[in-house]
Amino acid sequence: MTAAEPVPDGQVGVWAAPGRVNLIGEHLDYVGGPVLPIAIDLQTTVKARRRTDGRVRVWSGITDRSVEFGADTAPGDVDGWARYAAGTVWALAESGRTTGGADLVISSDVPLGAGLSSSAAIECGIAVALAGLEGWEVDPVEMALICQRGENDYAGAPTGSMDQLASMCGEQGHALLIKTASAPPTVKPVPAHWVDDGYALVVVDTRAKHSHAGGEYGQRRAQTVELTELLGLETLAAAPPDAVLKVDDPTLKARLRHVITETQRVRSAVRALAARDWPQLGQLMTASHVSLRDDYDVSAPELDLTVEAALEHGALGARMTGGGFGGSAIALVEAGGVDALRAAVAAAFARIDFPAPRTFVVEPADGARRVS
Ligand code: ADP
Ligand code: MG
Repeated sequence: MTAAEPVPDGQVGVWAAPGRVNLIGEHLDYVGGPVLPIAIDLQTTVKARRRTDGRVRVWSGITDRSVEFGADTAPGDVDGWARYAAGTVWALAESGRTTGGADLVISSDVPLGAGLSSSAAIECGIAVALAGLEGWEVDPVEMALICQRGENDYAGAPTGSMDQLASMCGEQGHALLIKTASAPPTVKPVPAHWVDDGYALVVVDTRAKHSHAGGEYGQRRAQTVELTELLGLETLAAAPPDAVLKVDDPTLKARLRHVITETQRVRSAVRALAARDWPQLGQLMTASHVSLRDDYDVSAPELDLTVEAALEHGALGARMTGGGFGGSAIALVEAGGVDALRAAVAAAFARIDFPAPRTFVVEPADGARRVS
């Protein structure tokens, strides 16, 4: 984010922040592992105008509601969808940046609750809008961590840092290799050329509800904390392959196996991107899905069905993406095969009376920024 003059009172500026898809490296952002997301070309737009009365009003076209709260809001003040906005205002203030007030109008084409990080998109969009209004200069990684804090400690969703880092730091034509072992995490753009090579990344929003704030996600996190303590490690992703031999409990053993093998798969995926070896990237994606399904146990019937149908109909690889228990799956396919894959997935869903999924193609896009 570049330094900017504050937006003069009364003038409206427009900012946008994208959703994200994680190519590979799932459930690793809270165990110190590497993740490899892209920001996508679906985004949340924030029209913003300064206020000077210390109040923030946020209106969303999706909820068709406006909610108003003080710039000095604290956790517990605001609930429902607007807590993601209030959480960002709060976390910015906690970092020493209290807004003088703002009117915020939100619109979004990131589907909500589909595992594509509409939550990070609204947070990051608001964060860059407030920074722009006030003329704050904030490093994008720091800004992402501020947004994460808002989501964790205000909105009450215990996510890792990947979603906000992807939304804040995305680069068109690039995936982001994010290493979460260090504080702050490091973010390295990695060229991702599948579009140039005639392939497409298809997202299937299964419309099965996922919930980050819900118990399962928190339970997986707690299991990784237990494992980290049991093995006496700083971060679980640093566990050597033979660490599984030291764990007796079969459930914990399986969770650890996912963390170890998924960490290796991210490293291989970075090499596959560099070599433009799309069959190899596809295989790694599918192996990631199997590990998430069998070892981490975070898949859902709709996700498994999507992956199966995609693989049977031309995908080089497919996997659930995001936290799991519903949400979206992704598939890498030759661009000419997108329609056939879409039809095959739709038919598979119809056969067993699942509601029709939504399918679209995404490309690696830029992160949060001022639009006008
Ligand atoms: P995901 O991030 O995968 O879309 P989450 O459950 O983390 O799913 O976040 C979705 C929630 O974020 C929504 O239920 C809503 O409360 C809030 N949200 C995100 N974008 C918007 C928006 N444009 N307008 C209103 N609320 C939004
Ligand atoms: Mg989210």
